[in-house]
Amino acid sequence: MLFHVILTTEYNLKCKYCFGEALEDFDSVFYGFDVDYSLPKRIGYDVGLLDKFCGQDSDCVLVFYGGEPLLCLDDVKRIMDTVRARRFVVQTNGLHLDGLESTYVNRLSVILVSVDGDEGLTDFYRGRGVFRKVVDNLRVVRRNGFSGEVIARMTVMEETDIYKQVLWLLNNEEFAFSAVHWQLNAGFWSDFERRKFKEWSEKSYNPGIRRLVRFWVDQMEKRGAVLRLYPFLGVAQSLLFGEEKSLLRCGAGWINYAIQTDGYIVPCPSMWGMRDFYLGHISTADPLRLKKVYVGEPCTNCKIFGLCGGRCLYANVTRRWSPEAYKLVCRTVENMIDAIKAETPRIRQLIKNGKIKMEDFEFMKYVGCEIIP
Ligand code: SF4
Ligand code: SF4
Repeated sequence: MLFHVILTTEYNLKCKYCFGEALEDFDSVFYGFDVDYSLPKRIGYDVGLLDKFCGQDSDCVLVFYGGEPLLCLDDVKRIMDTVRARRFVVQTNGLHLDGLESTYVNRLSVILVSVDGDEGLTDFYRGRGVFRKVVDNLRVVRRNGFSGEVIARMTVMEETDIYKQVLWLLNNEEFAFSAVHWQLNAGFWSDFERRKFKEWSEKSYNPGIRRLVRFWVDQMEKRGAVLRLYPFLGVAQSLLFGEEKSLLRCGAGWINYAIQTDGYIVPCPSMWGMRDFYLGHISTADPLRLKKVYVGEPCTNCKIFGLCGGRCLYANVTRRWSPEAYKLVCRTVENMIDAIKAETPRIRQLIKNGKIKMEDFEFMKYVGCEIIP
């Protein structure tokens, strides 16, 4: 099982797609859900309890998460020193990566770092100077011997040209990211009316994705390289292996849970404080017998549910975009799946010819890449 350990509810950035949206989000009543807004800012439980909890599962993977988890360097070290986890992963904005000693960094299996593309775009969304600091830190981490995967984790919305920015992340002079993942900022806030999502998704994002899929397969053909673009890897792997009945691909609520700062367990880190979804406390819960929570309508009746998996449990239960608005998000899912499906015969042929291998599509699942953007 995977557990996102929320080390803090605090952030040290004010990104446009999160802080900016929160300022405009005036839903005082959170859709009838009972929400605890008073969680401790830092972990308020004994780390020994986390060890006891995690120790019951020989495959326990802990993902440090926040807020910004590296605001709590001492807690990261304490947990890595104490808890019997099979692997540790961090999802971070990267600003404090240089503060964690290499003996700890080098024990991480994966670093997911928030970078939205090139310097101009990343700084536009995340604040001036952020890109430079993050890239400098990543270089230090590599120089100090970190050999695991560094995944550039983009948040994508209207200012993003997906084709241009993913290509930049794959091929730039600043830092050699091992992989790229992106998630659409869509359906997480009550913001559809003030956005230009429809125009952007139809004119920029969807055509950009189709172009990117073609580029991805062209690279397999020309260089024998399966570039690690997580959304494409996940869907292509399912198509190649004939797995067309995926559960939620981020794993939330069935293989991937989040532990709040007070020790309560919820299906996903975005659902912190939502008491209706509390699944127990680390002091008493069995990590292997947690209740499963699945997405409901409209996903369960959707013709591509098997490949999509439902995209996002949080969006599915909170329904912050109207059904009509959310259909545009589903259209992006369908567009990506169709584009990959159209290229599957070419991919199969390349595997048959020995240009690439089935194993090239393998990846560590549920560590923070949702696969369906
Ligand atoms: S495409 Fe939309 S409705 Fe269909 S399964 Fe995915 S999120 Fe659900
Ligand atoms: S995709 Fe949605 S349900 Fe899954 S982890 Fe992200 S916010 Fe949670």
